Amino acid sequence: MEAFDFEAERVEMVTWQIEKRGIREPRLLAALRTVPRHRFVPEELRRQAYDDRPLPIGSGQTISQPYIVALMTSLLQLKGHENVLEIGTGSGYQAAILACLARTVHSVEYRPELAERAQKTLAELGYTNVYVHIGDGTLGWAEAAPYDGILVTAAAPRPPEPLLQQLKDGGRLVIPVGAWHVQELQLWEREGEHFSSQDMLPVAFVPLRGQHGWKEEEWAESY
Ligand code: SAH
Repeated sequence: MEAFDFEAERVEMVTWQIEKRGIREPRLLAALRTVPRHRFVPEELRRQAYDDRPLPIGSGQTISQPYIVALMTSLLQLKGHENVLEIGTGSGYQAAILACLARTVHSVEYRPELAERAQKTLAELGYTNVYVHIGDGTLGWAEAAPYDGILVTAAAPRPPEPLLQQLKDGGRLVIPVGAWHVQELQLWEREGEHFSSQDMLPVAFVPLRGQHGWKEEEWAESY
């Protein structure tokens, strides 16, 4: 049987799904061409890893569509020196992309089984500047704060206050805010004690749980 050419798939993905939609930053495109997305999805879905859509990763969770990963990352405007926080490690794919573009990445995951698998994948692939933590990411990760950028990859009812507080002055928070089926991807920027936000794009994420997240009943009724 002929081997499946994951690298060729990845190059095509970047051309047709990312560049065609207007994302141009060379470092980001290089990261997307490098990180082996197929290693972050379940074995039986590897051949679909470069498709233009999210995929299930177990425990009812999903790895985001490649374009959404690219767009969220691009909104952080990373130069390479940053300390970044991700909430919702999931498969670890988004964390790996961030690891290529920032100095340090802390990523918090609520579900231990996902955190452990993501940690294993990231270690196997040699990403040494990503720290996966198990916990409630709506509380942020105070030990490594403040952050130049925070990226939340689950839908929140509103930006959790601890995350805004753990942003550096001049820092950026990217977060899907809204209810079941559709949320608005928001970009928050901090200037001193002033926070401003912009709506970027309608998106659909799984719910953010935890203290400042959606309660199960509220989410089900939020449609
Ligand atoms: N960024 C991931 C996709 C995340 S899916 C990737 O690249 O694969 C959303 C993830 O957020 C799920 O894994 C879910 O368990 C996690 N999550 C939900 N609520 C959370 C919380 N309060 N703290 C941390 N993680 C949370």
